[in-house]
Amino acid sequence: MMIKKADQESILKLLNNLKNDYNIAAPVLLKKGKKEIVEYVFIDDLNDIYLDRQPDSSPKNIVFPQNSAIGKDYSGDKLYDPEKKTILWGVRSCDIEAIKTIDQVFIEDEMYTDQSYKANRDKTIIVGLSCEEREKNCFCDALGFNPIESDYAPIYLFIKEDQYYIKIKEKEYESLFSSLFDGDQTELNELLKLREKDFNSSEFEIDIPIPLPEKDIFEAEIWDEMSEKCLSCGVCTYYCPTCYCFNFFWDGNDHDSTRYKNWDSCMFTTYSAHASGHNPRDSKDKRYRNRIMHKFSYHPFNYEGLGCVGCGRCISRCPVNLDIREALKLTEKYLQTKGGAKKDG
Ligand code: SF4
Ligand code: SF4
Repeated sequence: MMIKKADQESILKLLNNLKNDYNIAAPVLLKKGKKEIVEYVFIDDLNDIYLDRQPDSSPKNIVFPQNSAIGKDYSGDKLYDPEKKTILWGVRSCDIEAIKTIDQVFIEDEMYTDQSYKANRDKTIIVGLSCEEREKNCFCDALGFNPIESDYAPIYLFIKEDQYYIKIKEKEYESLFSSLFDGDQTELNELLKLREKDFNSSEFEIDIPIPLPEKDIFEAEIWDEMSEKCLSCGVCTYYCPTCYCFNFFWDGNDHDSTRYKNWDSCMFTTYSAHASGHNPRDSKDKRYRNRIMHKFSYHPFNYEGLGCVGCGRCISRCPVNLDIREALKLTEKYLQTKGGAKKDG
């Protein structure tokens, strides 16, 4: 392991040099109408990098594009060069853990490898960013994740005012940072000790069995209560860093057509509709149940870990303020008391 230390100016100089050989993707503050929003995009001007708060969107779009013509990911983006690897800069722990979740499904599942996702991931070097404080709706620590550092990123940034400490955990990446001064491990340890002490942990606590036992709660009446206000808009799934559903579309005619792969959402009313017309998830309580069960029952059952990393984006973005923490609390209460009535059928 190697530790480097640099000020902001040296970091910008370093990235400017790396830009010759790598695509750089990082959070940027964008104006969308009257709103300001922080999103991960491929960048040219490194002064645009914005690390002051949790980005509104996750970096999912960088490894798993929202819309792409098959085999031509990011082809419309002039700042992306398919011949270069990508440095994905400033990714917080929750989003790194989310990429790990998607890797489990698209790369590590022995039944299936998504070749376009794998190609993107093989080309992506994740540079993590240690969180300095918990934001309003984050609850990653309540789910057992560490907001200060995730083991899944080979390189990590710890920023204190203008100073960057860079931890390079894998030898193959050491040369990228060779122009910077060596950092001091003891100094970094002191910083981490203070950060852990001062970190404002989540007040949210949850005590549920993982995986959630489907047989005990599938027919419980809690799903009606949780989903009553839901509009089936799918916003929560689009902003969720771990949601990975997709669909294919064709554009063109019999002689000339392009096949597209786009994100999809299990919260949409027709998502699970069969060609026969039957829809096994034809009401919002069933769709909401599937969302919670997928993250806390089916994913942990099939892979390791959870399908939710506690980033809180679904809470911040839901137009009717549905809060996944409240859904988990209802689930906890139901399982502890088994007090709720079961639904018919
Ligand atoms: S964002 Fe809210 S309203 Fe929209 S589908 Fe998700 S839970 Fe329902
Ligand atoms: S379910 Fe919500 S809190 Fe959990 S990872 Fe997805 S967006 Fe974040």
